[in-house]
Amino acid sequence: MGRLLSYASGTSDVSLLGETIGANFEATTARFPDRPALVDRPSGRRWTYAELGRDVRRLARALLASGIEARDRIGIWSPNCAEWVLLQYATAMVGAILVNVNPSYRTHELEYVLNQSGIRMLVAASATGRADYPAMVAEVAPRCGALGEVVIIGTPGYDELVARSEAVDEEALDARAASLDPDDPINIQYTSGTTGFPKGATLSHHNILNNGYFVTELLGYDENDRVCLPVPFYHCFGMVMGNLGATAHGSCIVIPAPSFDPVATLETVVEERCTSLYGVPTMFIAELNDPGFSSYDLSSLRTGIMAGSPCPVEVMKRVISEMNMSEVAICYGMTETSPVSTQTRRDDDLDRRTATVGRVMPHLEVKVCDPATGAMVARGEPGELCTRGYSVMLGYFENPEATAEAIDAVGWMHTGDLAVMRDDGYVNIVGRIKDLVIRGGENIYPREIEEFLYRHPDIVDAQVIGVPDARYGEELCAWVQLREGAGALSAEDLRLFCEGQLAHYKIPRYVQVVEEFPMTVTGKVRKVEMRERSIALLGLEEVARERHA
Ligand code: AMP
Repeated sequence: MGRLLSYASGTSDVSLLGETIGANFEATTARFPDRPALVDRPSGRRWTYAELGRDVRRLARALLASGIEARDRIGIWSPNCAEWVLLQYATAMVGAILVNVNPSYRTHELEYVLNQSGIRMLVAASATGRADYPAMVAEVAPRCGALGEVVIIGTPGYDELVARSEAVDEEALDARAASLDPDDPINIQYTSGTTGFPKGATLSHHNILNNGYFVTELLGYDENDRVCLPVPFYHCFGMVMGNLGATAHGSCIVIPAPSFDPVATLETVVEERCTSLYGVPTMFIAELNDPGFSSYDLSSLRTGIMAGSPCPVEVMKRVISEMNMSEVAICYGMTETSPVSTQTRRDDDLDRRTATVGRVMPHLEVKVCDPATGAMVARGEPGELCTRGYSVMLGYFENPEATAEAIDAVGWMHTGDLAVMRDDGYVNIVGRIKDLVIRGGENIYPREIEEFLYRHPDIVDAQVIGVPDARYGEELCAWVQLREGAGALSAEDLRLFCEGQLAHYKIPRYVQVVEEFPMTVTGKVRKVEMRERSIALLGLEEVARERHA
């Protein structure tokens, strides 16, 4: 008998859901009308499931009254807030495709996604201290042909939108909802592309409803759970594992703050008696290291999720022992797979729960292949992780070439992540084949930054890499070659050049001016060597040795 191959298929007694998001949501509102559904701590507003169901339906009727057809694209560009959640379910009920726009995006990125997905209506946040969303929309709108309407949350324009619902009756909404198919596209999420342009992962009701449902099924959610969500809604972590995972089981969504704030998160867990807490590793690190950490009573916590980037073993152990999250899980996945492919189980032993990313999810398949030949490797050997099943996206929006590169002819999504499947089927993430940096849970494709840096008048060539960082997991480091006669270029100079046009997390923390890049004989830049040299130059050896799941 040969060695066991790196293939696993997830079995379950619980069947997949065959309904739309709207149907699933309405079933929950009917089942748990009086249970808490949503708490928006910054504004102090609360909804029971009956109230949330009523407000979602009202907003959905308003969208019908605005002439929104099934498959029209509606964009949401806002930090976390209750309106984000309302719009998520209202768009799902009328079959409009919700396009998540990263609230850190600035004009360059916003204009691209508005045009690429043909957004017809954009719902955006009002101006905050950190970003003037209305002004940025106004700046790019003349160059965005499909954009017919912009609605700003918290202004009379938003109330006027909701008031349009009067013109449409409940039966019209039911008729629209009944006409939808679970396999219809319902959500587009932009992931940075290797080409320098973001690609719109297009996800169906079936994709994301089931993924949210099974992630929280494995955490044992019911109508008594209260889920604290400091993770962004614009990403699957918030809107799928968080929102859909909660509403599919009648649990309560708790919004601690518009964007991550360790103190607001800890206070919310205490005040709202949350049972579950999510975060990328960076968030848990910030909470554990908060000066007041030991004063918070976290005894209500039971479970939660760490995911999104490599999870340090030691941080997981502290989350279990110091945050009372005895049933916390690690999830691994990507937007293109709705997102979760593997997850640790509540009853796994400590080693499996802290030092692996778990095993295959119910109803999915994963395998590990030799990236060069595509052949499955033996258990214990590294290769590219691939996922197949209900969670694989419909495709990249209007980009069949990119879709064909990512999903092969027999349905496997090639993740670009390097993994090892152990003999027991548990998986370790050991690296990446794709040129991707993950800073504090935010994905950055170096190619996109490099292309942006070429616009700088003094830069003739640029190469961007990730270097290890104790707080963010990775930080960006740019190696640049300057034109002859150019003066020095500091990290501060580069920041000023990028600010306002690029999301803050894409601005390199370190800059090194070099004469040349290390190259292979075939003329490829050796990023592995650049990384090693940068680690030495910046004195990051100790962080680089940290162990991950
Ligand atoms: P995104 O599409 O933003 O969800 O990012 C997906 C990528 O994040 C994956 O392809 C991985 O490289 C990385 N990732 C997500 N979860 C984990 C994890 N638990 N451990 C290591 N890397 C992860």
